[in-house]
Amino acid sequence: MFADVIIDQDAKAIDREFVYQIPEEFDVKLGMRVIVPFGARYLQGFVVGIKEDCSFDKTKIKKISSVVEDFSAIKSEMLQLMQFMAKRNHLKLASILRLFLPAEMREGKVKELFKSFYCLNTDAQITLSKSAKKQEEAVCYLKSCDKEESAVMVERFGYSAMKSLLEKGYVTKTQEKFSRRPQIDMGESAKVILNPMQQNAIDTMKDNKTYLLHGVTGSGKTEVYMNLIERALKQDKNAIMLVPEISLTPQIFNHFKARFGEQVAILHSGLSAGERFDEWKRLFSGEARIAVGARSAIFAPLENLGIIIIDEEHEQSYVSESNPRFSTHDVAAFRARFNACPLVLGSATPSVESYEKAKQGEHTLVEMPVRANGKELPAIQIIDMVGEIRKGNSGIFSSQLIAELANVVNAKKQAMLFINRRGFSSFMRCRECGYVAKCTDCDVSLVYHREDNRLKCHYCGKQFRVLDKCPKCGSENIKHGAVGTEKVVSELNKLFPDVKILRMDNDTTGTKNAHQKILNEFKNSLPAILVGTQMIAKGHDFENVVLVGIVDADQSLFHADYRSTERTFQLITQVSGRAGRGSSEGKVILQSYAPKHYVYKFVANYDYKGFFRKEENIRQTSEFPPFSRIIRILFSNQDENKALSEVKMCYNEIVKLKEKYESEIIYLDAMKSPIKKIQDRYRYQIMLRVKLDRADEIENEVFEKVDKLTKSNVFVEINPQSLS
Ligand code: ADP
Ligand code: ZN
Ligand code: ZN
Repeated sequence: MFADVIIDQDAKAIDREFVYQIPEEFDVKLGMRVIVPFGARYLQGFVVGIKEDCSFDKTKIKKISSVVEDFSAIKSEMLQLMQFMAKRNHLKLASILRLFLPAEMREGKVKELFKSFYCLNTDAQITLSKSAKKQEEAVCYLKSCDKEESAVMVERFGYSAMKSLLEKGYVTKTQEKFSRRPQIDMGESAKVILNPMQQNAIDTMKDNKTYLLHGVTGSGKTEVYMNLIERALKQDKNAIMLVPEISLTPQIFNHFKARFGEQVAILHSGLSAGERFDEWKRLFSGEARIAVGARSAIFAPLENLGIIIIDEEHEQSYVSESNPRFSTHDVAAFRARFNACPLVLGSATPSVESYEKAKQGEHTLVEMPVRANGKELPAIQIIDMVGEIRKGNSGIFSSQLIAELANVVNAKKQAMLFINRRGFSSFMRCRECGYVAKCTDCDVSLVYHREDNRLKCHYCGKQFRVLDKCPKCGSENIKHGAVGTEKVVSELNKLFPDVKILRMDNDTTGTKNAHQKILNEFKNSLPAILVGTQMIAKGHDFENVVLVGIVDADQSLFHADYRSTERTFQLITQVSGRAGRGSSEGKVILQSYAPKHYVYKFVANYDYKGFFRKEENIRQTSEFPPFSRIIRILFSNQDENKALSEVKMCYNEIVKLKEKYESEIIYLDAMKSPIKKIQDRYRYQIMLRVKLDRADEIENEVFEKVDKLTKSNVFVEINPQSLS
């Protein structure tokens, strides 16, 4: 028998199947990890094929030297997924297989934990010398303890005492595996009675299709998800539930743990290596049947899936931004197809791309348009900050926001103040008239770059001088930069010296469980104000929050990205959804320097459909995704000349495609990346925007050329989430 083996090495040159002979004495199965001789070394590999015969000269074929473990770590579904991803995303096979296993397992860093239990040997006639005090105590202890209590013998009575007892045959030792479990506090598991809207959603989402569940914030989507999973379990099937950046929303785990107990395994980057490995094993062995986690949980080693759910499906974090690049939606669709189960994409603000698919009939739309508790969505009031300046208030809070905060404090309730900060970029804006500097060619906002004090376009690479005067109104009050959380907190402390003010951002959440601590403290303080970035926008369900203030809503609006309006709509809807979830009515104060921008009208009316139609129209006329495809090829190298010569060589080849696809290529150019150096590596890029009709063809040709011409450190992205 022969095996096709993929070597577990991150090297393009050897990223293919190699044939090895299977020695008689090994029971090698598909998906097993093996050790094989490779050149002068012995390397780990994955068995991806097994066959009776092979066409090569058999005397030259080497033998598998050993198996890493006696089971198939990669199940057959995952082998097919590997093929799918390799083709779809042009990834190296080894790099895909690595996604399927916890890194700890591959590197052998984390060992399984064993507990040692002791018991007295009943046949033994125990005689101990007077001086063996510790041994005597141990024997005495063992006479009356239960099994679990016997696991602490070494800690209690010392290693040497236990060793002599073992050697004399007075006690016996057994070892058992045990799992490290992530710590979470159990939430309440009160089961609610489903309303007809939820029941209808559950009844509808039962076939092997992709459903887009569009449910407003507070419509009770979590309850729907849990019922879908319950149904799958009843059918003896398993479930995957994905949530974005988990550490931000620990509550969701509490809900799931409370409802499903030990059947839930949690997979996210906040876990220790050991915890992640053990949770993976619990899923692999079938002990746990529900995988809840961030993006990578889509690779959970569960078979026989009955449901896959992607919550907050519009979130950027579902696309990996480093190698290997994959789209979680694609992988989920593959696994749903393979298992013939429903795939549910849930959101209060679906991505334009997903909603377009629903419109085209590719996804089935399911709607939950009202809140589960029957409460209205909080009213959103838009404050014109330019008007505030004219009235003589040049501070960061409008008079309206200050008044509302005072009301909250007096009523002993809670408020959240949201600071919109995405990435490191900032745009240039006139504080007098609201003018924002844009690229003359691309109609997207220019980004201020501190290192060379220039304004840059992230789409075409054009650079502009920093403005010292507003070209529209002549004011010199034109600035870049955004207010930070610190500044907001210090202003609040001046306004409300006796009120608990908490801050949640990258600086305050560096340590493990920091999020949870801040959120708990907030939960237990009345009155209180929580100031935070994107981290506070999602998921939280605090019943005492009656006010949400959005300090500078425009920050994501003028981000240099065709999705910036969509992102703004999503963010504001999300963060607004935190208000008024309890019995008291909620309110949202949205501060803007461009209050007439169309996005705010739709946001204030919770009019997703209106927004979608407008956005769809703009994308269609300007030929941006989902009505075109953007391909970015990013080159990075410590040696700037090498990066430059690679990008030139590639460009010279790719530009030839222009002849063949004359009418399909809307835009093609090579340029320095907007951020030209990261971690001491110079960055250059080629940008393509192509029409959809032959996009697959063009993409393939581009991939082939890039594969052929480049060695490494090239990263190809389709419709990239960020262009910096
Ligand atoms: P979403 O995820 O859609 O924003 P949640 O799942 O957080 O909404 O639910 C919002 C609130 O409504 C929660 O406090 C939840 O307990 C409650 N809820 C959900 N379903 C029901 C129901 N059928 N009856 C009463 N309350 C419900
Ligand atoms: Zn431009
Ligand atoms: Zn101006």
